[in-house]
Amino acid sequence: MNVAILGGGVTGLTAAWQLAKAGHSVRVLESAARVGGNIRTEAADGWLSEAGPNSFQESTLEIATLIRELGLAVERITTLAAAKKRYLVMDGKLLAAPAGPGAFFSTPLFSFRTKVKILSEVLQSPRNRPDEVSVARFVTDHVGAQVLERAVQPFIGGIYAGNSERLSAKYAFPKLWEAEKTTGSLIRAAIQGAKSRKAQGLKGSAPVISFKRGLQALTDALAAKLPEGSVVLNADVKALLPGATRRWGVLWDGPTGPTSGEFDFVIAALPAWSLARLTFGTDAATPLAALGAVEYSPVASLFLGYRRDQVRHPLDGFGALVPRAEKRSILGLLFSSSLFPGRAPEGHVGLTVFTGGALQPETARLPEKELLDRVASDLRDLVGAEGRPVFTRHVLWNQAIPQYNLGYGRFLDAMTQCEAKFPGFLVGGSVRDGIALPDCIKSGTQLAKRVS
Ligand SMILES: Cc1cc2nc3c(=O)[nH]c(=O)nc-3n(C[C@H](O)[C@H](O)[C@H](O)COP(=O)(O)OP(=O)(O)OC[C@H]3O[C@@H](n4cnc5c(N)ncnc54)[C@H](O)[C@@H]3O)c2cc1C
Repeated sequence: MNVAILGGGVTGLTAAWQLAKAGHSVRVLESAARVGGNIRTEAADGWLSEAGPNSFQESTLEIATLIRELGLAVERITTLAAAKKRYLVMDGKLLAAPAGPGAFFSTPLFSFRTKVKILSEVLQSPRNRPDEVSVARFVTDHVGAQVLERAVQPFIGGIYAGNSERLSAKYAFPKLWEAEKTTGSLIRAAIQGAKSRKAQGLKGSAPVISFKRGLQALTDALAAKLPEGSVVLNADVKALLPGATRRWGVLWDGPTGPTSGEFDFVIAALPAWSLARLTFGTDAATPLAALGAVEYSPVASLFLGYRRDQVRHPLDGFGALVPRAEKRSILGLLFSSSLFPGRAPEGHVGLTVFTGGALQPETARLPEKELLDRVASDLRDLVGAEGRPVFTRHVLWNQAIPQYNLGYGRFLDAMTQCEAKFPGFLVGGSVRDGIALPDCIKSGTQLAKRVS
């Protein structure tokens, strides 16, 4: 088969690699001047910073296999032992999230009443809700409003940069939604999940990983393993037309002007706004126009490097998440140099700060200097960071993460209907199959399987 893959992010590249491995001919069409999409690592002056994702869970054997096949096993690194601890901010201070029964009973994070509510969650019976509900409602039903405010909303900020009142439990957390139906208690479902991972020879919780050269090592390796000439950069795909010799003609604006090619299959691993604009057929229909209404939250990421003596906190953890009630400019921060080795030069530490999201979109869009001032004030209070950072990287993602808000099903339906109407056209990626990197890797693999 001859397959066009639209979008050279991790989804598109995974699909391309799996197809090439199975003997198909692939062409990845990527509108940017580089592959990787949201995955973007920069190495400079002894610092290694991530503009987008910083790590991901090696949650399946397929991911471990992919890493081995790409020759990345020697590059793979798991989080340092210190990163086990996770902090939440409460009353302007960092507080370790309880990691075991002892810490759970003694933590000031939750009231006695909330602790009782959490413990009694294991008694919940399976439940079939007639309608989808927000993540806020879902969580409150299970463990109460205090857990939502102090732990879950900040966690949602860290994953979706989203608003728990608007995110749909059904679409944003499908496994929990199913667990409620089948098991009732989410806590019991989590215990069963850990047991079943162990039975498969996996660790109870999946390792959190990256690579020595950063996450971009993954997408760079995927692209490098493809046959020469398989990736076309600066190729902005515009239209799909009936082909003369093969099923699909694909039209793109390339480095040398409008260009076209013919393919048996087209895989789209694009953001919603690009899918919405894609025209099909000679009448230039836009069957995915509805996806223009998918909301994306804006996020600014700041990588800040300090001399070790500028930061008072031991940075003995993964990072810290900030509840809305704390009224801070930052959504959360990662202790990047405590997470993985090689992120900061000797005698220095690196922090990655995320701002904006669905709850404070205007903060993400602040000019760099103003944003730095605000963030510096938060970091002074929270981790005792004094003085100006000695290294700074600022990236604004105007449309960072698709929000699986209430009613997201209509976008999924539009994609399903489009596939049914146009055989040989397949859609996947973060807009359809989940936003975390393991979801995108799985999506790419499934897209390739469907073609094969
Ligand atoms: C700031 C940030 C932090 C994150 N942190 C984490 C994390 O820590 N862990 C985690 O698991 N996930 C994280 N994510 C989510 C994860 O990075 C993304 O969901 C994932 O990378 C999406 O991959 P994708 O291939 O589906 O899409 P993308 O990476 O968006 O790739 C789509 C590609 O399509 C290209 N394109 C667009 N239009 C066209 C067109 N018309 N023609 C051709 N090409 C086109 C784009 O240039 C892009 O390269 C984070 C995301 C962001 C933004």
